[in-house]
Amino acid sequence: MGVAGYRTIDDLDVAGKRVLVRVDFNVPMQNGEVTDATRIERALPTIDALAARGAKVILLSHYGRPNGERNEGMSLRPAAEKLAELRGRPVAFAADCIDGPAADAIAALRDGDLLMLENTRFHAGEEANEPAFARALAANADAYVNDAFSAAHRAHGSTEGVARLLPSAAGKAMERELDYLAAALSAPERPLACVVGGAKVSTKIELLVNLAARADALIVGGGMANTFLFAQGMSVGASLCEPGLAATALEIIRQAQASGCELVLPTDVVVAQAFRAHAPHEVVAADATPADKMILDIGPDSVDRIADVIARAKTLVWNGPLGAFEIPPFDTATIEAARFAARRVKDGMLTAVAGGGDTVAALNHAGVTDEFSYVSTAGGAFLEWMEGKALPGVEALRR
Ligand code: AMP
Repeated sequence: MGVAGYRTIDDLDVAGKRVLVRVDFNVPMQNGEVTDATRIERALPTIDALAARGAKVILLSHYGRPNGERNEGMSLRPAAEKLAELRGRPVAFAADCIDGPAADAIAALRDGDLLMLENTRFHAGEEANEPAFARALAANADAYVNDAFSAAHRAHGSTEGVARLLPSAAGKAMERELDYLAAALSAPERPLACVVGGAKVSTKIELLVNLAARADALIVGGGMANTFLFAQGMSVGASLCEPGLAATALEIIRQAQASGCELVLPTDVVVAQAFRAHAPHEVVAADATPADKMILDIGPDSVDRIADVIARAKTLVWNGPLGAFEIPPFDTATIEAARFAARRVKDGMLTAVAGGGDTVAALNHAGVTDEFSYVSTAGGAFLEWMEGKALPGVEALRR
């Protein structure tokens, strides 16, 4: 594919240069040890490519929420150690990301060496995107590479400020993410179908509005579908529902109609008396939820209809589960629809991109993460991209 419009590391002259690389090493840690290195592994292709070309590779990341103050419990040292272990080569560490400690450690690097700088959020200037902080970061480097799509929705010093001060480019993981996101929403092969599930309408209003305007079909499931049913005058019993958003739901329905987007709402639902695994349950029509029961999944007819829509689509964007997937059997619709989509991908009939919030967990649960075309592990950034927003960290990399 190749990302049109963004600089990549091939556009940078890096041999012998000090290259700042923004990674997202905000990884799960326990007792000073990394417990899930997925994000570190995803950064390896960029790190290896730059080191092989003779760059002095200087890694930059945030970790946790130290609120602009030094906090040894939120040090990135364990991430540097994990990276050294994964590469089988030493990774130097600097106790600060700017000023003397950073400058001294960088001066000691030879071509191809790696250095991890301490947590950028130990400085208030990071989240405030203060020009002085960005200048202090830039002072120690010749070029900047951003490989952290998951942090690109934030206009921070290390994601946006510094990118404006140095020759900058997208790293390989960022490039891959932008490629797939472009193929899924900016210039999709049509028909484009979108699945939006999850708990609430309130967290996904902008996303639904944007997708209703762009997609050929918008499939709504999960708890948020209840608000749409309620808005259309159906009783949803004891279900999760946001009555205050009924008008918003009706507006989204109207917008979908106006832009020729087929809105797919559940026609049948699985109801139970309690939010608990294996609670006694039954399938009822979407307008027949008993007053004392709650909708925990969409029903088999709804899943058949979703499969029909996916079968007609060439591109699928998926966010959120169709039911309460953590408690079986209310994971059924999510699993069946996700597996159907995965088969279409395998048959070469569909490009399926997913991400945001609980989506990765839901697709892992369905066992299809590796079968989708691309699953983004970025939470907030993926959602903002689905909302149609420009991401400051990405915009800064445009040619
Ligand atoms: P989100 O973070 O918005 O993607 O929401 C994911 C959560 O929505 C999961 O924890 C699901 O259990 C929950 N969820 C999905 N469908 C329902 C439902 N019908 N009733 C209650 N919770 C639901």
